[in-house]
Order: sequence, then C-alpha cells, then structure tokens
Amino acid sequence: MLQVEGIRKKLLTQRRDLFRQVAQTEEELRWFQRDIESEVEERGQEETMVQLLDRLDGRAKTEIEAIDRALFKLGTERYGRCERCGKAIPQSRLEAVPTAALCLACEQAEESQATLRK
Ligand SMILES: [Zn+2]
Repeated sequence: MLQVEGIRKKLLTQRRDLFRQVAQTEEELRWFQRDIESEVEERGQEETMVQLLDRLDGRAKTEIEAIDRALFKLGTERYGRCERCGKAIPQSRLEAVPTAALCLACEQAEESQATLRK
C-alpha cells in the first residue's frame, strides 16, 4: 500500500523549501511558519506565492511544477503510474523521488534521447 499521506507531506515540504530559498521579507518568511496543511487551503496566500514564484529560477520552477503535478495526481490512480508506458512505478522509487512521473526504464530512455539531442 502506498503511503499517500507521507508522500503528500514530503511533496509539500519540498515545495516549501524551494520557496523558502527566495523569501526575502518578514511577511514572506512568516508565510512559511504557517501550518503546512493550511498553506494549500488558504487562497488568500496566493499573492505571496505569485511573488515568490516570480523569483524562482527555471530549475526551481520546473521542480515546483513537478511537485504540483504529483500532488494533483496523488490520491488518483494515475499517481505512481509511469506516464509513458503505464506500468506501476516501484514504491521504493516513489519514496526516494515522490515526483517521479516515469518508471526508471522510461526515464533512462528519455535521458539518453535528451543526450542525443544535445
Ligand atoms: Zn515507463
């Protein structure tokens, strides 16, 4: 059985850590002290979030997108399935990389393709 709650917490923490790197003002830092669950629920926090998102570099933005996508899929049967071949992604891999959207074989295939394109 997949530990959905544990994975969700891990994803939210990762997301928060990424934003924390670019927080500058006290108000923004206070935002991170809020309860991790309410952070997602409270839509009033969106403005701070947009400002922070603006400061993230491309790599961090890509990570946030991957996290959001995983959070969105979490709890549906799509989570933990490879987006390319549809096979179940091993639980050990999901625990190590909760944002994994591909199984290891497909990810390696994509990586070698990306290397070829360079
Ligand atoms: Zn696959």
